[in-house]
Amino acid sequence: MLAPDNHLPTAELQAMDAAHHIHPFTDRAAMTKRGARVITRADGIYLWDSEGNKLLDGMAGLWCVGLGYGRRELIDVAARQMAQLPFYNTFFQTTHPPAALLSAKLAQLAPGALNHVFFAGSGSEANDTNLRMVRHYWASLGKPEKSVIIGRKNGYHGSTVAAASLGGMGPMHAQGGLPIPGIVHIDQPYWYGEGGDSSPEEFGLARARLLESEIERIGEDKIAAFIAEPVQGAGGVIIPPDSYWPEISRICKEREILLIVDEVITGFGRTGNWFGSDTFDITPDIMTIAKGMSSGYLPIGASLIADHVADVLQDKGGEFYHGYTYSGHPTTCAVALETLRIMQDERVVERVATETAPYLAQRWATLADHPLIGEARSCGMMAAIELSPEPKARAPFAAKTGTAGFICREICFANGLIMRSVGDTMIIAPPLVITKTEIDEMIVLAAKCLDQTHKALRKDGLLVPASEA
Ligand SMILES: *Cc1c(COP(=O)(O)O)cnc(C)c1O
Repeated sequence: MLAPDNHLPTAELQAMDAAHHIHPFTDRAAMTKRGARVITRADGIYLWDSEGNKLLDGMAGLWCVGLGYGRRELIDVAARQMAQLPFYNTFFQTTHPPAALLSAKLAQLAPGALNHVFFAGSGSEANDTNLRMVRHYWASLGKPEKSVIIGRKNGYHGSTVAAASLGGMGPMHAQGGLPIPGIVHIDQPYWYGEGGDSSPEEFGLARARLLESEIERIGEDKIAAFIAEPVQGAGGVIIPPDSYWPEISRICKEREILLIVDEVITGFGRTGNWFGSDTFDITPDIMTIAKGMSSGYLPIGASLIADHVADVLQDKGGEFYHGYTYSGHPTTCAVALETLRIMQDERVVERVATETAPYLAQRWATLADHPLIGEARSCGMMAAIELSPEPKARAPFAAKTGTAGFICREICFANGLIMRSVGDTMIIAPPLVITKTEIDEMIVLAAKCLDQTHKALRKDGLLVPASEA
């Protein structure tokens, strides 16, 4: 049986959409001119558009569809929960079985002392919760002046006012007067793009120590927390040098500040462990989760809170005047619970760690031999390649950043591969259930698209390094 209105012609859907739908992260004028891509169905790691074209979804939707599309158990559990209790809130001392069970399950899976859950509808909302919660935490301890939060340039923490302010995306800050006061940003551990002649290890240490100097500059007594992604996702799958996280951890242990680890992407198996904090040996005081926790089938996010923070809030915080109508929504909780059950029963994370991620790493690394590629890197089931006109020199293009990346992305779409561009970095984060055969297919497609991109860039006179502009 078809879902509603899947039978309408593409042009009709595009016209309605162009007239009435304002899309996220989209240049509406450009989209209206060409018509939106219409995706109508999906199965496993593949999508189909309204013209019948099949696409290998190298981005798992938006980093979230870990179990792939069409999982009957997730569909059925949502239907059963909706029949029993489609909605009730968790405000005012009320709960329901899915929220209670999911809280306990998350506490069991999460590392260390992260035993308490505050539910949200998305990663952005969870980070809004975190901002208010860390400030409320310090105020409850009689230190309301500890309110500044340190984030990172090119970090991504979501799109609400607080989340976009915590993030360090210049173009986002330029629209709407962000960041809000009380949030500062230090430089990122992006060795390929910013490391110059230093070794990755030296560079990682230097970038971590910026946290220390920023704490000194502002004053430890003014700082509430540091927030960071274990691996920057939307920033371009930026995997920090091995020296980075140990040094950040040292600084956070020595200083009286909270560490918020945003695992919206890296959580739930993406890096080959349940959490990026396991992979990088990080001890968060608060962790942000969303995306993969429901495999993207329904929207859910949450903040995981460590015992020592939750204890202070419980003993001294009083009522926390904060919550979302859909905090702990029963149907989304039921789908998240079922997602986690499937992941455990099918040993999805173990399979990524021992089989498919090592295989992806090995196959992905071969792309580094391509004459357009300055670096190929991967961490678990997320990976990036850097386009460059002079790969050995890690040279950026003379053309505006993102020109080559956009051309490559369009060529990928035309060849049935969804690979995202971030500037001139191409990234993938396929469903965690991708098989070795499907990885082979993805690599062959990617290599073909790089050949075509190389030709297109040469033809357009764009294979010019910035130094020769
Ligand atoms: C996607 C993302 C968010 C925001 O999550 P939404 O569900 O889109 O609000 C926050 N942090 C990171 C690291 C993300 O990748």
